[in-house]
Amino acid sequence: MIIVFKPHPSDADIAQVAAKVVEFGYEPRVIRGVELTVIAAVGDEIAHKSLETLVSLPVVERVIPIQKKFKLASREFHLANTIQQIGPEKLGGGHFLTIAGPCSIESRQQLRTAVQDCLKAGIRVIRGGAFKPRTSPYDYQGMGQAGLDLLAEVKAEFGVGIVTEVLSSNHIAQVAAVADVLQIGARNCQNYSLLEQVAGAGRAVLLKRGMATRIDEWLLAAEYLIVHGCHNVILCERGIRTFETATRFTLDVSAVAIAKRETHLPVIVDPSHPAGKASLVLPLARAAIAVGADGLIVEAHPNPSEACSDAAQQIPSAEMPRFMAALQPLIDLCAPANANAAEGAAR
Ligand code: PEP
Ligand code: MN
Repeated sequence: MIIVFKPHPSDADIAQVAAKVVEFGYEPRVIRGVELTVIAAVGDEIAHKSLETLVSLPVVERVIPIQKKFKLASREFHLANTIQQIGPEKLGGGHFLTIAGPCSIESRQQLRTAVQDCLKAGIRVIRGGAFKPRTSPYDYQGMGQAGLDLLAEVKAEFGVGIVTEVLSSNHIAQVAAVADVLQIGARNCQNYSLLEQVAGAGRAVLLKRGMATRIDEWLLAAEYLIVHGCHNVILCERGIRTFETATRFTLDVSAVAIAKRETHLPVIVDPSHPAGKASLVLPLARAAIAVGADGLIVEAHPNPSEACSDAAQQIPSAEMPRFMAALQPLIDLCAPANANAAEGAAR
């Protein structure tokens, strides 16, 4: 950290701050410039207590951290792109993975049809919410355990991988019994107690970025998961709140590039929730692939007009083969760059 003094500190002021720096476990190096005097505090900022409290001293102008706050998720810690096994598929390091399925599980027939349509499109990892985070308490809340049972059925019958959301720590064990990947939804991105508990479930975790979560906060949420024992974290950009109302959320493609550069984790994009309408999902998916995403998670429903949630944005599942065919040339062009860690770091 760098401690910047207010102009013209006395020798006693400098000595007092340097002593504090030593007390916190850092080595102080005083640098007297023409205009400003600073102390460079040498030491591991993650291992030691933060010096940011020194800003409360009357002689200190600013304290500037140098190290990134997250470590285990960072590319400095692990240069190569992490590759994960998700059900029958690989994700990351040049392995592009598309996950698709309905927003919510609504019935056996609905889920089976969606799965069969996805399989025809070459998609072998299925999404579907059994516990749904709905803005209104009067809206469809999901089938709960009955939905998990239907996921277990399609998993056994078709050998697909399963991604489904965990809303509450009460449900972790029952969701983990069927899911290959536990989804943490946008609304829980910074629910640190839930993150800590989900991390211990022995499953990969798909961490959606909160709609008002900064990139550094999102990456620190991933760090929570890793620190608490989850080594298969998947980052998912799903759009943020801005002043724009033409879309449901604003897909932040920059966040994908930054997360790829700063971390070794796979970064996927949900083009469905920012789109808010089915016709925008394909162009947003193209943007995601072009910016370097490692995969997509797409909402697809056998009959979107009858969907219990997110009806407008779900692609008719029968159209998934056409959707994937439209994306494949771009995936073939862009995904190989993700095999190379140096390219990821240079993004
Ligand atoms: C979902 O995937 O259906 C969902 C609720 O997503 P988000 O948490 O991104 O809103
Ligand atoms: Mn949804």
